[in-house]
Amino acid sequence: MSLTRKKELVKEKVVRSHGCRGACIRCTKVHRLIDKMAESNIPIGYWFLNMKEFKGAPKLKEIVDDYITTISDKYMDGNSICFAGNQGTGKTMSSICILKEAIKKGFSAHYITASDILNEATDSRHSYNLKALLRDVDFLVIDELDSRFFSSDNAKELFSGIYENIFRFRSHNTLPTIMCTNETDGILSVFHGQSVQAINSLNKQYLTIYPVVGPDFRKQQVKHAS
Ligand SMILES: [Zn+2]
Repeated sequence: MSLTRKKELVKEKVVRSHGCRGACIRCTKVHRLIDKMAESNIPIGYWFLNMKEFKGAPKLKEIVDDYITTISDKYMDGNSICFAGNQGTGKTMSSICILKEAIKKGFSAHYITASDILNEATDSRHSYNLKALLRDVDFLVIDELDSRFFSSDNAKELFSGIYENIFRFRSHNTLPTIMCTNETDGILSVFHGQSVQAINSLNKQYLTIYPVVGPDFRKQQVKHAS
């Protein structure tokens, strides 16, 4: 079973639960959205979640609602933001809701974690295509920008070089990047080595950091359910 197969199963389920024969306008639209979300690397578990059912930090919902309603301006301005907060505040879901809105508006979008950037960008079989994609895509989410995923200063340094290259290109071309980190003091501890100073000044100039601290809302949900 591959993710492609799973995607097809999800599409079949959409039709089944709609009760049509599959070629109706609604299901065709949903199927097209599914293809785009899969192409954008959005994890399947987030495909059908939306901000209306959002259970995370209320402040996050406000920021996302604002971003979404003015998404075309955000694209033109290249508005880059970073959600910095503890686990369970809804950062991943928020960032993905922005991507889904971008897709619906016809923009290209891509979701990736910081550790996947490091793994894939240092693998010569994919590195060229991936870097080009991450530089060019209209809306990019970099999730889990957390120092715990980088086992050594060496790994951090390697990642820092890649990050600087991608984020500099995107910022200078006014392309929006959305980042999420569990580092509540900001993302500087993720970086190491020669690029740190340059990254520092890039982030200062182009990145708005939103601290989102709060209880782990996922735990609360479980508590309420029991
Ligand atoms: Zn249908």
